Amino acid sequence: MTDNKKDTMEKKIKRLSALAMGCLTVLVLLAAMRLPKYTGQAKEQTPVSGLELLDYYTAQAEEDEAPAEHQIRMELPAGMTEEGIEVANDALRQLITIEIEGIGPDYYSSHTLLGSSDHIDNLILGGERGDGVIEITMDAVYEVQWKVENSFLYLDFVSPRDLYEKVLVIDAGHGGGQPGAIKKGIEEKNLNLAILLELKLLLDRHPNWKVYYTRTEDADVGLDQRVQLANKAQANLFISIHNNSTEDGLMSKYNGTEVMYDEKKPQEGYSSMRLAQICLEETVAVTGSLNRGLTKGNSIYVIRTSQVPVALVEAGFMTNEEELAKLNTTEYQRVIAQGIYNGILKAFEEGF
Ligand SMILES: [Zn+2]
Repeated sequence: MTDNKKDTMEKKIKRLSALAMGCLTVLVLLAAMRLPKYTGQAKEQTPVSGLELLDYYTAQAEEDEAPAEHQIRMELPAGMTEEGIEVANDALRQLITIEIEGIGPDYYSSHTLLGSSDHIDNLILGGERGDGVIEITMDAVYEVQWKVENSFLYLDFVSPRDLYEKVLVIDAGHGGGQPGAIKKGIEEKNLNLAILLELKLLLDRHPNWKVYYTRTEDADVGLDQRVQLANKAQANLFISIHNNSTEDGLMSKYNGTEVMYDEKKPQEGYSSMRLAQICLEETVAVTGSLNRGLTKGNSIYVIRTSQVPVALVEAGFMTNEEELAKLNTTEYQRVIAQGIYNGILKAFEEGF
């Protein structure tokens, strides 16, 4: 074959393959348009990226199919009712988990999932916990509203500030592997939690308030998780409950109540300083403990990084023998809780 002929031949082959590629592209496009089935890579994987699927189906959907009044519409097995569905909302992790009975692997690669991915950071279908488990990670704390209608699940995510009169975050310091101070065998984490649980009984009286607790048991919770719960719920206020020790940790005569605030944040209006002041006054008014005043707390992570009014209550000194004995009684824990509760009422009266 001469070089000349070879050239012509190569050109022909190139032209033919270009034509073939063109036809193939048209066929693939046609197939994609006709099949309401997700043919992307994610189909082969478990878990599947639900956000990719959501965008895919939504881009393909006819206009009247889109769930105009709801954020997301998910196809369910025929005849499925509310009873077949469980929804859990872990505010601390901004993680919403939906369990749907009887859904097999890759169900949503052939059943639709329509709507908007607004405020959704991640959506996993068929995670580690099973085929019918859908895990949705939100960009903030939301309450989930859901209903089943004509074999569709409708989901909406609503900011607690839009649903409740007030939003609070209450934190029991330390927990799990972090006991805080330990004096005479008494662990600070347990005192903090006991006070929080007493406070919870009082706050439960207010159905129009949404209260998020960083923990209601002896659990490990990260500092960032605690403060992000408050920030991402846009809480009206964030109160952290602790108990004090002297710097050297030795038993001493020091006793009484202190409340920490952020001295580097503006101090007018609904400030950390004002909230701390209210909590301090109301707490010592009922406990009768020594008012040790406000303490600068900007060096404390949950105070410094809080974007909402924050106060950290140091209820009493564990390094004082008498006070420690009191702190360890349910009776006194209840009184401290009452003081903090009165502080919350006063803060809301002032417009926090
Ligand atoms: Zn502490």
